[in-house]
Amino acid sequence: MPRTLLTGLRAPGGPGTPATGTTALEITDGTITWLGPAADVAGRAGGASVEDHDGAVVTPPFVDAHVHATASGLLLQGLDLTACRTPGELLDAVAAAPRAAVLWGHGWEENRWSPARHPSRAELDRAARGRAVYLSRIDVHSALVSTALLDRAPAAVGAAGWSPDGPLSADAHHHVRRAALAALDGDRRRGAQRAFLDLAASRGVGTVHECAGPDVSGQDDLADLLAAEHGVAVVGYWGEAVRTPQEATDLLRRTGAHGLAGDLFVDGSIGSRTALLREPYADEDGCLGNRYLDPEAVAAHLVACTRAGIRAGFHVIGDAGADVVLAGLEQAVAETSARAVRAARHRLEHLEMVDAAQIARLAALGVAASVQPAFDAAWGGPAGMYATRLGPARAAVMNPFAQLSAAGVVLELGSDSPVTPVDPWAAVRAAVGHTNPASALDPDTALAAHTGGGRLRVGSPASYALWDGDTCLRLVRAGRTVHELRR
Ligand SMILES: [Zn+2]
Repeated sequence: MPRTLLTGLRAPGGPGTPATGTTALEITDGTITWLGPAADVAGRAGGASVEDHDGAVVTPPFVDAHVHATASGLLLQGLDLTACRTPGELLDAVAAAPRAAVLWGHGWEENRWSPARHPSRAELDRAARGRAVYLSRIDVHSALVSTALLDRAPAAVGAAGWSPDGPLSADAHHHVRRAALAALDGDRRRGAQRAFLDLAASRGVGTVHECAGPDVSGQDDLADLLAAEHGVAVVGYWGEAVRTPQEATDLLRRTGAHGLAGDLFVDGSIGSRTALLREPYADEDGCLGNRYLDPEAVAAHLVACTRAGIRAGFHVIGDAGADVVLAGLEQAVAETSARAVRAARHRLEHLEMVDAAQIARLAALGVAASVQPAFDAAWGGPAGMYATRLGPARAAVMNPFAQLSAAGVVLELGSDSPVTPVDPWAAVRAAVGHTNPASALDPDTALAAHTGGGRLRVGSPASYALWDGDTCLRLVRAGRTVHELRR
């Protein structure tokens, strides 16, 4: 049996700190068969091929718990609008883009612009010159679109979130996004997915959780992704509400998903002022955000999935959104049992505004939190977008990673790519360097939360990543080399 000794490895000493200790790894036929101090290598070298890795840091592969593969891949090939600083720069980028069935762009953020106004639809149409154009806001909860795309999505006109001249949000946004995705042929879609999975591999991510659903992507899209022959593993979540255990079981089978969770939207986002709040937004009179699922539907979904033993979950960002989910969880406890709810390991996406009482209850019910530290890095802090939208007091206690972790809520870190890039070390650093130190994770907890609790263990399939700083030198998952940097 082929036996390899990897020597000269170091365990990570936490982000930003030197690695500690030296270690070695023995892999026999795709399984970790020994792990130990470098000093003990000599006795095992006979008959093995020995690789000296010269101080490379070794970790388990990262798990990105929230991605949108196709949208991310399309943007690798499409328009990056994150650097635009004025409406005119956005229009110039659109005008200069090559012809395509649908022109995809992503990342505009009008609160960073001067002037902070959106281009009008007429301006966008002039730049588009008849092309269908879909430009998602940085949070992907609203989009600027051209008239040619609206012609393919007539249901968007007048739907909730419709605007005759500005970005579309809510249902209107979902209609145009579906039309934009439907305009892609299968080859372009699969090409985008592959480009994204290749990128994930190059960043040391061995598993991604795709948050798919009827409003976000589509069944064909998820089917293609789950069928992709790629070394990066895909766990699929499908965000569609069900009402009975039978419906839940059937839908899971039909979609190939691992849970009826992910982007099943209870509310929207802070940036788009669509996250559901207890108290109004600080920068828009009386605005409490949007509720996309009524409490009765949330409860029915949780009850049905709990009965079927299926992981359920929702996208929920605002504090009042979390109230709706907690009420649904209590309903599921009443109709099944706390033990059944815990066993289903339900999971909530984002969960950015939760107080101590909510956290304690989520912990007691075994609910996991899929969180994005890069959100805090991008929008947290006293001068950040969250503070503008919510005022400093509410903004300061957002994304309470430490409090969730201390209460026993399982944290799963992710990027929500394309909202923030797949960059796991940046996410670990953001969790450790939280804008509110009281909410920061320690490095070991952050790393564990971003690697699926992963540890390198004797007897486990060989899955590991080797690093030089943030650069992934090699990614191996289940004995298969998924990425190797040629130097
Ligand atoms: Zn998402």
